[in-house]
Amino acid sequence: MTPADRINELRRLIRHHDERYYVLNDPEVADVEFDALMKELERLEADHPGLVTDDSPTRRVGGRVAAGFATVEHAEPMLSLDNTYSEEELRAFDDRVRRGLGLDAAGPDAVAYVAELKIDGVSIALTYDRGVLVRGATRGDGSRGEDVTPNIRTIRAIPLRLHEGTPAGRVEVRGEVYLPRRAFERTNSEREAAGEMLFANPRNAAAGTLRNLDPALVAARGLRAWFYQVVPGRLPTHAGTLDDLRGLGLPVEPHWRRCVGVGAVLAFCREWDQQRRSLDFDTDGVVIKVDELANRRLLGATSKFPRWAVAFKFPAEQKTTLLRAIEVNVGRTGAVTPFAVLEPVFIAGSTVSMATLHNADDIARKDIREGDWVLVEKAGDVIPRVVGPVRDRRPPGAQPWVMPSACPRCGAALQRAEGEVVWRCENTSCPAKLQRGLEHFASRAAMNIEGLGESLIAQLIAGRLVTDYADVYALGTGTLATLTSTSLRADGKAIERRFGEKNAAKVVAQIDRSRSNDLWRLIFGLGIRHVGERAAQVLADAFGSMDALGTASVEQLEATPEIGPVLAASMRSWCDEPRNRALLDRLRAAGVRMEVPPEQRAARRVAGPLAGRTYVLTGTLASMTRDEAAAAIERLGGKVAGSVSRKTTAVVAGVDAGAKAEKAGALGVPLLDEAAFLALIASGQ
Ligand SMILES: [Zn+2]
Repeated sequence: MTPADRINELRRLIRHHDERYYVLNDPEVADVEFDALMKELERLEADHPGLVTDDSPTRRVGGRVAAGFATVEHAEPMLSLDNTYSEEELRAFDDRVRRGLGLDAAGPDAVAYVAELKIDGVSIALTYDRGVLVRGATRGDGSRGEDVTPNIRTIRAIPLRLHEGTPAGRVEVRGEVYLPRRAFERTNSEREAAGEMLFANPRNAAAGTLRNLDPALVAARGLRAWFYQVVPGRLPTHAGTLDDLRGLGLPVEPHWRRCVGVGAVLAFCREWDQQRRSLDFDTDGVVIKVDELANRRLLGATSKFPRWAVAFKFPAEQKTTLLRAIEVNVGRTGAVTPFAVLEPVFIAGSTVSMATLHNADDIARKDIREGDWVLVEKAGDVIPRVVGPVRDRRPPGAQPWVMPSACPRCGAALQRAEGEVVWRCENTSCPAKLQRGLEHFASRAAMNIEGLGESLIAQLIAGRLVTDYADVYALGTGTLATLTSTSLRADGKAIERRFGEKNAAKVVAQIDRSRSNDLWRLIFGLGIRHVGERAAQVLADAFGSMDALGTASVEQLEATPEIGPVLAASMRSWCDEPRNRALLDRLRAAGVRMEVPPEQRAARRVAGPLAGRTYVLTGTLASMTRDEAAAAIERLGGKVAGSVSRKTTAVVAGVDAGAKAEKAGALGVPLLDEAAFLALIASGQ
């Protein structure tokens, strides 16, 4: 057998086993055997690079995504569904469908529906060209989404190639990317151990993951997918379409059922409201669709929703329990938020002993008091919430709760900005803020300093060894080694434990390594309000250095794709604060990398969406200066030239454009007016 034959055979086998595992849920081989096939293929491809193709199973993870994701226009809009919350509302939906189809509302004719479990994930549209995956896009606002192909490719449940004998030409399939519950719990426990913010629910985790700029991270999270639509529809029924999708080799959630009449639909909903905990993914309801595509066409759509489908939401799970105390927590930004300490109670699959109380106003409005019996709800989120008190079980003498007027950690008077509901500790050296801030700074998602966790940080702050992030870089092995922690032995005797040379050396090495981190890790680690992991990546890619970012105007920040006015203003005001500028100077002096290395920048410029295109600017633009326009083009990888030639991609012509615009006309070079130019920058195309 030639290497080429063996490579083809291995790819076929791997695709087959992926399908057994992800689509049919019926694996034929153990993981080790599968891994052996994969290893053999990797080895053969390494020896014969000429035989590597894009749809090979070894090619799922590519390099980092440069310059953000491009915008994608959906040929057919991806509508969302109207929600129903009760059986009456579902019956009313059925009545509307029957009327729309000209059936007697009270008559015996029943409509055939397909009921599917509603997956709490992210809607996506995939395009296959002659059976090969060429594009994966998010739903976005329904008419425009993001091209997240590199990340979609990493999801092993999604075939890079459809079954042989699939339709010629292009096929678009739609479905939902989700994170199975176990993968979600694993992700959150890893984040918790690293002191990172937890994802509120699997949907947020899936959405955040799918838009991350690092496909290797996406691959590690373990996303899955289910599919439910082919666009345009090519079979007369929805039930047929679901079978068709599976036939193409795509995963379809297997519990769907064809239900004739609304009674059968209601039975399906009741059944799954009881059974949904047995699934390995979160479902928050049932999607009900008219089965016949011809009937769907008759029913049509409103501007927002199709008239032939509806979502039924399961009621949130609630329990009553005793509210033992209301305590407050001081966050990284100084926000002081109340939370409920509860008598432990089992809700929706886990024991709950704490719940959020949102804010002081909310507690007052609902009149929640310590000692009350309260209704607690878990509505798809990890953190349960207190719905309200059970008034007639209130113990005599229970007093209304009062928000503390001082920070529980440093004693500074709490303040509240005009129009805000959140009380804050504005003391810049509040140890609680420094503690949370440092935990975030050192966390794996940010500066990734392993070993610098909650308890070590607490000791460093208590010993006044650190008063800001830059102090971390002055820590030596000697200082850390002598730190001691006290713990109680089982017999009640206190024992002191030294941190020790070995641990100290490890942490110092980690701190040292973090000096040469990618710039976005620093930007994220600084904990600037509204600047998340992804925004930090976008800003680092766009500006290239802390200096450029620190001096960027709000307008320049806002001109960056995905950066909105709130984030831009927050970034600007953080940089204007002298204390923060001093912190940056101290970090720089400590040797922390403050820019994207030039070769990385150049590589990204080449890979930008305007790579290989040249623009000439002429005339005056109303929304930006010529320098800003040039910077925007360069950020997207394009070039700006001073004169027009046949090689010019287009001339951007503002008001009073002169000779250059005329020359463009003579050479047949396209002219872009300001609106077209802004659209070009916004779409990154
Ligand atoms: Zn404080």
